[in-house]
Amino acid sequence: MKLLITGGAGFIGSEFTRQAVKNLFETVVVDKLTYAGDLERLKEVEDKIKFYKTDINNQEFLDYIFQKEKPDVVVHFAAESHVDRSILDPSIFIETNVKGTQILLDISKKYNIKLFINIATDEVYGELGENGQFYEDTPLIPNSPYSVSKASADMLGRAYYRTYGLPVITVRPSNNYGYWQYPEKLIPVVIIKALNNQPIPVYGKGENIREWLFVSDCAQAVFEIIQKGKVGEIYNVGSGQERRNIEVVKSILDILNKPYDLITFVKDRPGHDYRYSLNTEKIQREIGWKAKITFEEGIEKTVKWYLNNLEWVNKKIKQLEEYWKKVYQ
Ligand code: NAD
Repeated sequence: MKLLITGGAGFIGSEFTRQAVKNLFETVVVDKLTYAGDLERLKEVEDKIKFYKTDINNQEFLDYIFQKEKPDVVVHFAAESHVDRSILDPSIFIETNVKGTQILLDISKKYNIKLFINIATDEVYGELGENGQFYEDTPLIPNSPYSVSKASADMLGRAYYRTYGLPVITVRPSNNYGYWQYPEKLIPVVIIKALNNQPIPVYGKGENIREWLFVSDCAQAVFEIIQKGKVGEIYNVGSGQERRNIEVVKSILDILNKPYDLITFVKDRPGHDYRYSLNTEKIQREIGWKAKITFEEGIEKTVKWYLNNLEWVNKKIKQLEEYWKKVYQ
């Protein structure tokens, strides 16, 4: 089976690509290499994959790739993925996440792809209060430009299944963390600031709750879905490991033996969703998948990874200084 992975040079896509090579799939990666993409993540498998640098909006080049490579399965990770950036400028989110997904779906239809895995997110559902969970049939009420663009892509995928019979499966994972995450997201930001004894920006009072899924668990879930998932269906992929942001920050400070007074509360993110929580009975029942890694194990592994990869991290921090000034006030 030949896989075509979009966004394979990104955080989750690269974990999925490394696992694909280990699982002996023929693997083609397509990535624009935006600020968030980096081929260093694929170094250990570079001689075992085929890589094309392209925007998924480049219809002509994508057509050429599909014609040449004849993939069986498309796994679509490519996206603008950071909520804060979508608040600063939504336009590229619509361009890549909505228009780019439509172009990819069209080409997949033209070449009769056997399976299209559409990677969505738990954020498409909107927000929860203290109680309750999102089920696969919960209405989508997304709140940020990012989550709206992802909900559009999610719904486009289902429309291509329903309207044209394209074999699409929709996957909605919760917040991922782990190795190689670009240091604009909460966990790597905290690790890096703490290591440098700098103030750690925490939105509002740090009370927001996310469900933390270790990236290797997420990638494994996608493989299981490719093998056992039912076309036309939606699968939530969560870990059940809910934590308040402030708890996440404190657990990192504890591992690094740094004081809590580094925590600095900053003006809350506009429209900040309070809580996400996925019900995962469907994937457990139909696919037999369950997350293996607890938050405590995962966060320890993640902190260690960043400590062992400071050279890569420091390169990224240089790119981020200006951006940090814009988002954390
Ligand atoms: P990421 O930002 O680390 O990687 C995105 C990748 O897509 C990058 O390599 C980038 O170069 C590439 N890309 C961006 N625009 C492109 C374009 N126009 N054409 C081709 N390639 C392009 O993102 P991630 O955190 O790895 O997320 C991967 C997917 O999973 C996204 O669809 C995201 O919405 C979804 N998701 C992420 C999380 C999370 O917590 N990170 C949770 C749920 C769902």
